[in-house]
Amino acid sequence: MPLVNCPACEHPTSSEATACPQCGHPFKALTIEATAKEWKFLKIIGAIIVLGSMGAGEVLSVLFETPVPLIFGGVVASGGLVIAIYGAIGGWWDNG
Ligand SMILES: [Zn+2]
Repeated sequence: MPLVNCPACEHPTSSEATACPQCGHPFKALTIEATAKEWKFLKIIGAIIVLGSMGAGEVLSVLFETPVPLIFGGVVASGGLVIAIYGAIGGWWDNG
């Protein structure tokens, strides 16, 4: 097990530890959170695209009495779903 210095108190700590045993600084948890944020961002963007395109498609379909916006919204929503799944898999790949 390699030793790393705690960023808060410089105490040599195992790189496997989630927090410094001397001062309790959670240095490993912070790096996990930082990498996961990019994937979370992808998942949020994907969810917004799915909900936004489906909602807009439904509203426009009712408004103009044609199913075309609904179909188009469905296609865009599929793209958003792919982005969300990519974010979910990426987050799992990075941390699992
Ligand atoms: Zn420390």
